[in-house]
Amino acid sequence: MIKKHNVLFFALLIVLISTNGFANWISNPRDIKQALNDVYREYKDKKGGKNADYIPELAKVDPTLFGIAIVTVNGDIQSIGDADVPFAIESISKPFIYALALHDNGEKIVTEKVGLNATGHSFNSVMAIEEKQDHLQNPLVNAGAIQITSLIKGKTSHEKWQRALDFIKKLSDGNPYLGKSVYQSEMATNQHNRGIAELLDSYGMMASDPLDAVDRYTKACSIMITARQLALMGATLANQGVNPQTHQRVISSKEVQDVLSEMVINGLYENSGIWFWTVGIPAKSGVGGGILAVVPGKMAIAVFSPPLDKAGNSVRAQQVIKEISQRWNLHLLGNKNMNRI
Ligand code: GLN
Repeated sequence: MIKKHNVLFFALLIVLISTNGFANWISNPRDIKQALNDVYREYKDKKGGKNADYIPELAKVDPTLFGIAIVTVNGDIQSIGDADVPFAIESISKPFIYALALHDNGEKIVTEKVGLNATGHSFNSVMAIEEKQDHLQNPLVNAGAIQITSLIKGKTSHEKWQRALDFIKKLSDGNPYLGKSVYQSEMATNQHNRGIAELLDSYGMMASDPLDAVDRYTKACSIMITARQLALMGATLANQGVNPQTHQRVISSKEVQDVLSEMVINGLYENSGIWFWTVGIPAKSGVGGGILAVVPGKMAIAVFSPPLDKAGNSVRAQQVIKEISQRWNLHLLGNKNMNRI
């Protein structure tokens, strides 16, 4: 005779297996907290890398700052360390400005004007523009991002910038703001980006005045954000474009697909291939020391630690996200995740 509690036990087992909840996916906030504690302790004293110094204001940031935040698609936030310290978002603004440009112009225009493929070069490479006959880059390197910025709609330059900032705020908790000192520091030293914009303009690839686009691009890079706010922006992507805290739809699900695809293709610049191979999660880095990783349907992980490797990616943030991915089997192409495809 089959006993009632045996039936219940097997039913529970089937539910656990079918939801893939056995060992891979940690949805319990207490388990996330525990894992964050472990990983934080393991990496807290690890050294390696150097702050970005081509933007003077970034060279001044305390290199020992270290914060991690995870936001799930349910809106649960867990964090540890310096997760409430604002830092410059830098290139992590790029995927989001890309989403806004898609919304404003449609996929076809953006794709045809900017391109999609990995460049295989550093994020501010001029060679990458020159070596291709069509000069097309992608939205996540400086050239493509400056073009993307030129595509943002608005009656005046100020309105275009304000729309971009409001969009970033809506993806998060409403509090990211323009860091004036980072912006001034970057504007005083961004001759290279101005050169890129003028070069693109010479090829007829800019949709607005090139220097105005660089100005707004630099403002977007100078947005100050905390790891917790950044993880919430990522969780909005993980949640198909609906902010899990405000429950507001900010990005369409197709735009989310486009943005995450680009994060796989070029999120960590010339190291994007090896990143996806080892970690298997779409991510975006910034020279302010942040990396945002998005696990579709589950959560986002944001790590802040200023010292960078040669490609401009935070050394410790890469280590932490890799560790979390391996612990929880988050690689999108790992066998644990294949049964859901
Ligand atoms: N604002 C920086 C620049 O234009 C952004 C680069 C980055 O974060 N990789 O160089």
